Amino acid sequence: MIGGIVKTSLIDFQGYLSAVIFTQGCNFNCFYCHNRELISSKEGGLPVTEVLSLLDERKDFLDAVVVSGGEPTLHSGLGTLLSSIKSLGLKCKLDTNGSNPDKVEYLIKRSLVDYVAVDIKGSRSRYAQFAGKEHQADKVYQTLSHLIETSTPHEVRTTMAPTMGIDDLIEIAEELPPSTIWKLQRYVIPELFRKEDEQLIYGDVIPYAAEEELLNALRRIQPAVAIR
Ligand code: SF4
Repeated sequence: MIGGIVKTSLIDFQGYLSAVIFTQGCNFNCFYCHNRELISSKEGGLPVTEVLSLLDERKDFLDAVVVSGGEPTLHSGLGTLLSSIKSLGLKCKLDTNGSNPDKVEYLIKRSLVDYVAVDIKGSRSRYAQFAGKEHQADKVYQTLSHLIETSTPHEVRTTMAPTMGIDDLIEIAEELPPSTIWKLQRYVIPELFRKEDEQLIYGDVIPYAAEEELLNALRRIQPAVAIR
């Protein structure tokens, strides 16, 4: 279930000193994925008991644990893992691609997540071109609805990947619920990628010089948008 752990991070859960756990396996296949080695891995990995005992040793100087991936909601043991983390007195942040709204709803109902970051991979019309899978956008927006309806603290993240233009981002801004906390991430070329994606990987991205103009256009629709 667990493919790796970063023992300390100041950037993965704003305001909190966190450990980050990376779960194995993902049901998307984004061409720009930075955790490609995790996408199809299912077997092996770190024993959960070992990870929990490491967190137990470090709980006095950590505030939180971020559970990222891969896609954490694919694992039937996610609720138990989050519950064990919370019993150490640590906050839990979940990073998800949003494709499993029922699992997210389950975790919210049991108060197992303090904060959720959901990826919006692209506009509905081009979702599959970024996520690598068909028909996922509806599920992702269902996840977002659960978070809003239950007032669960959350943010939405979008990577400004090659071929994503200003028009795409304006389309996303119009599709998101009003006043979404929306973080745009600058694209970084991944070390590992599929040979057939080579052209996409080195494709055009929105230039830095255009970012201010982009933000001004997006803020008219989504005031809480930022680039990081
Ligand atoms: S959803 Fe995340 S982990 Fe899965 S393929 Fe996309 S970037 Fe990689």
